[in-house]
Amino acid sequence: MTIKEELRKKFGSAVRLNEPLASHTSWQVGGPADYYIAPRSVNELAEVIKVSKQFELPLFVMGNGTNLLVLDGGIRGLVVHIGAAFSYIKQEKYGVTVGAGTAMTALARETVEKRLSGVEFAAGIPGTLGGAVIMNAGAFGNYIGEKIQTVRLVSDSGANLELSREELSFGYRCSNLSGKGVIFEIDLLLKGGNPHESLRLIEGFIAERRRRHPEQPSAGSVFRNFPDVPAGKIIEQAGLKGIKVGGAEVSKKHANFIVNTGEATAADIMTLMEKVRQVVKEKYALELQPEVKIVGEES
Ligand SMILES: Cc1cc2nc3c(=O)[nH]c(=O)nc-3n(C[C@H](O)[C@H](O)[C@H](O)COP(=O)(O)OP(=O)(O)OC[C@H]3O[C@@H](n4cnc5c(N)ncnc54)[C@H](O)[C@@H]3O)c2cc1C
Repeated sequence: MTIKEELRKKFGSAVRLNEPLASHTSWQVGGPADYYIAPRSVNELAEVIKVSKQFELPLFVMGNGTNLLVLDGGIRGLVVHIGAAFSYIKQEKYGVTVGAGTAMTALARETVEKRLSGVEFAAGIPGTLGGAVIMNAGAFGNYIGEKIQTVRLVSDSGANLELSREELSFGYRCSNLSGKGVIFEIDLLLKGGNPHESLRLIEGFIAERRRRHPEQPSAGSVFRNFPDVPAGKIIEQAGLKGIKVGGAEVSKKHANFIVNTGEATAADIMTLMEKVRQVVKEKYALELQPEVKIVGEES
């Protein structure tokens, strides 16, 4: 049986062929995935992983695609999307068990409804919790890694694994979970909260984002901050706000955002990133490192 036949037999119409990834990334760029599937259960996820192994198909996991630059040639192999089927929050006293496909914004609001506090900062982060765990996403001095008790994932060999806090490590926008498998569930430890105070915090965070961030399609911060200075400050000082390559522009509002003004390609964004890197290197002898993950093939 061919790969296509095997995938169709096992997952039916849930498998899409040549799926354009521009419609699954916040930058709205990126070529097609050979195969794209959103598994509906942990068992189905394990099956997907097994089939990818059987046919030696490379496998790439996507949440909401809000930290990704998918190149214009797309992704060869199988893209697994962890989304709506893995979106749930179950409470047990101060602990919550959360599906990896849960939107960070929903996590912030729904935990407040449960009179819990600790992830208000997640409001306004457009990714899923799974992507946030990999990236140790954070904002306003908080990081998701601080709240994590347990991570459940399906490993590359298709086995269910449970990793406890002691086995996990988190750094600035990174964790030791990259490449370990597909995360499907996370336990977070929060504390009791006052919903009014939490909602006030959330509204403050959202207002601050509206004030600082551009509205056009982006992937958030493009480059990692330096230990002592934000990357955006350096890029702004270098006079790069507003420079363009094709449809990609260094945001006039926040210099560490590159926005898609409508017709950008991934190649435009890559070229603009390189230009920014070069100017910052020449002017300040500083090496900017991408925070976004660059994946796929050039066209
Ligand atoms: C407007 C805007 C504002 C942003 N603000 C912030 C911010 O304040 N703070 C911040 O930290 N980030 C921010 N981001 C970046 C982004 O939202 C976060 O990094 C987010 O957590 C990524 O989640 P995602 O689901 O989109 O992951 P994706 O972009 O889909 O993937 C990111 C990485 O995680 C991996 N991955 C995703 N899901 C899983 C899974 N279930 N199992 C295993 N691996 C997985 C992917 O393979 C990839 O390597 C912002 C982005 C935008 C567009």
